[in-house]
Amino acid sequence: MTDNLISYIESLGVSRLGFFGAKSVVPNNWKELEYGISFSIKLSEPIVDDIKSGPSKTYFAHYRSVNYHINEVSLKIVLYLQKMGFKAVPIPASQTVSEKNEISGVFQHRTAATLSGLGWVGKSGMFIDDKLGPSVRLGTIFTNMKLPSASPVRSGGCGSCRICVESCPAMAIEGKEWKAGMERNELYDARACSDYMKEAYKDIGRGVVCGICMSICPKNHTSNK
Ligand code: SF4
Ligand code: SF4
Repeated sequence: MTDNLISYIESLGVSRLGFFGAKSVVPNNWKELEYGISFSIKLSEPIVDDIKSGPSKTYFAHYRSVNYHINEVSLKIVLYLQKMGFKAVPIPASQTVSEKNEISGVFQHRTAATLSGLGWVGKSGMFIDDKLGPSVRLGTIFTNMKLPSASPVRSGGCGSCRICVESCPAMAIEGKEWKAGMERNELYDARACSDYMKEAYKDIGRGVVCGICMSICPKNHTSNK
């Protein structure tokens, strides 16, 4: 049954795929969904390479179309699982459910991806796929279909690199090496990042994208592609 699911998901055009045991991380309202699926979609390299000094309108359009694709893939996986008699919930590709105290969605995709063994979190707070680098966007599904669990990745691999820390125009990145379980705000200030984008890039993508820390990351060029 798992092999059929893998074949189906791969046929939907994902770049990478992994499974994880979700018992300890699934949001409380879905506690019966103890397994998770994480997948990534690789962004266009020339578009990402082009935003080292700030986002472009082409990047914003690409970002939106990849998010749209992730939501479609997630929905198709959920429908497939439901047809097989299981329950499943897709996490939106990009969603802010709380702006008051902390900017966040219902679940962080990077947590699912690290638990699935697909990569680690960089000093910038970005997920860095161990094969594709940081230029990916992620999708997550919770389900009650029993799935094999991967070995989670528990520590970052930035080492002495500080390129994103020194390149962030909002000075939002602290420069600490990631360890599993670390709060996001120990790595970077999401509020400072968001406020900077809203002001500096309001005419490009309505101030919701930047991407400099992704574009300048050397893991774009050293990861195995
Ligand atoms: S997206 Fe831009 S502003 Fe936000 S942390 Fe990265 S470089 Fe800094
Ligand atoms: S630019 Fe360097 S420090 Fe920042 S996430 Fe990439 S590898 Fe890590």
